[in-house]
Amino acid sequence: MKRSLLDILACPVCKGDLELVVYEENEEEILEGKLICKRCNIDYPIEEGIPNMLPPELR
Ligand SMILES: [Zn+2]
Repeated sequence: MKRSLLDILACPVCKGDLELVVYEENEEEILEGKLICKRCNIDYPIEEGIPNMLPPELR
């Protein structure tokens, strides 16, 4: 995912802002990492450039 996508993405549970943690990225996008909602205390993984925005109970 592109870093700019963070401005658009929100937590699907509370619609709040997400914090980005990057494990691996190239010049264009983030390949591995996670998006954290501190309000819900949920991590949304980013795998192979794709953020998984499903709430934990639907994974
Ligand atoms: Zn949330």
